[in-house]
Amino acid sequence: MRIVVLLGAPGSGKGTIAGRLAASDALLRHVSSGDLLRDAVRRQTAAGVEADGYMRRGELVPDGLIARMVGDLTVGVDSACTLLLDGFPRTVAQAGMLDATVASCGASFGPVVLLEVPDAMLVERIAGRRGCPACGAGYHVTNIPPAREGLCDVCGTGLVVRKDDNPETVRNRLAVYRTQTMPLIDFYGARDHLRRVDATGPIDEIVVRVRQTLA
Ligand code: ADP
Ligand code: ZN
Repeated sequence: MRIVVLLGAPGSGKGTIAGRLAASDALLRHVSSGDLLRDAVRRQTAAGVEADGYMRRGELVPDGLIARMVGDLTVGVDSACTLLLDGFPRTVAQAGMLDATVASCGASFGPVVLLEVPDAMLVERIAGRRGCPACGAGYHVTNIPPAREGLCDVCGTGLVVRKDDNPETVRNRLAVYRTQTMPLIDFYGARDHLRRVDATGPIDEIVVRVRQTLA
């Protein structure tokens, strides 16, 4: 098993890129901490009830909750698979948890792919983001428009704006990224795991660039 991390600010396209990569490679599994948490909130599990307020405010949920959620990340996963982590780790403490998981299951680790996008573009991407509440497909009003306005291409459900995509919460998420997640750039850079990718331009081209770092 191999574990690869996608690192980048909110709006940098982690979920979109990971989704594309996983769709074209049966051995690549996309694991999104945000999707796992939103699913827990929807199902009102104990973890979901605890996470909800933090997520609405654009804060990180406590590391303890993440530890429980990702503790069994590799359980039952075929050894031929690559796990593509999107949204985890987000703090240096979480990177330590991941190290422990990697060590205990004998997985190989890396690279950590940093999706680089200018700040102004992050805000624009998040403002136009829409998602399908039924199947999870992601869209953008101008960059990735659905065929029929406001409706999911996959299942026809009405698209929604995520609760934490309002301007005030977005500002907070970007600040949290800078203070709590950006230290991981140096953390993984020092271990020579970091690969920087220009995450602007056509999505297909970004996917190609990221795929090259995984080869
Ligand atoms: P984005 O990367 O666009 O901010 P995500 O879907 O990855 O969106 O995360 C949404 C929210 O879920 C975060 O703002 C945070 O509250 C919570 N979250 C997701 N992953 C983690 C994590 N690894 N640690 C703490 N909180 C997390
Ligand atoms: Zn859908």
